Amino acid sequence: MADQTSTLRIGLVLPDVMGTYGDGGNALILRQRARMRGIDAEIVQITLDDPVPESLDVYTLGGAEDYAQRLATRHLLRYPGLQKAAAKGAPVLAICAAIQVLGHWYETSAGERVEGISMLDLTTTPQTTRSIGELVTSPTLAGLTQQLTGFENHRGGTILGADSVPLARVDSGHGNRAGDRADGAVTGSVIGTYLHGPVLARNPELADHLLSRAMGGATLAPLDLPEIDQLRRERIAAAKR
Ligand code: GLN
Repeated sequence: MADQTSTLRIGLVLPDVMGTYGDGGNALILRQRARMRGIDAEIVQITLDDPVPESLDVYTLGGAEDYAQRLATRHLLRYPGLQKAAAKGAPVLAICAAIQVLGHWYETSAGERVEGISMLDLTTTPQTTRSIGELVTSPTLAGLTQQLTGFENHRGGTILGADSVPLARVDSGHGNRAGDRADGAVTGSVIGTYLHGPVLARNPELADHLLSRAMGGATLAPLDLPEIDQLRRERIAAAKR
């Protein structure tokens, strides 16, 4: 775990196969928000050529198409560093396909069932129609007070089991599965969401929640970035039209 004097190490997991819609930007945002507070931070890229280290402070995984998602699943099962890190309490952020991979199993749009890595208590099957568009939610996770904004594009529909709770209630858009009005999943230190954006660029409060956890619950100095607040207001208003 990093403290104010050591280097915060941010794992960008499998950006070579998982990272649709610029989800790799989530790692950049974590690094930037740490550095703006004088905290030394670096991104460690873990590709299909690398085993997954269990020693990093925080991990992010992005979305993916079905085939790329399969390659990622196989790699994470073969090198279980992410599972070990989460078991020790390291925060993990999983976007879209990554939620599905971190669940017990998912079915691709071709109807094949793929075993996941069971870090989140959930399963995913194809919906009849793809969920596409702006998504605005109200978080139910303790410590988050601001609406979350981003966009979604997925065929899979996710159902949570008893050991995962949703990250947020859906205000507009679909989230986990059309009609369920819930987005994302939380189990321990693992947070999943269908929000692309990248989600941490659009939602600084969520970025700081992960950063604080990565630093053992440290209180972070506030950052005053009025342009980001303005952009958030515009996007939330536009999604409601
Ligand atoms: N392939 C998955 C689906 O369609 C995830 C897509 C994504 O990550 N954007 O459900």
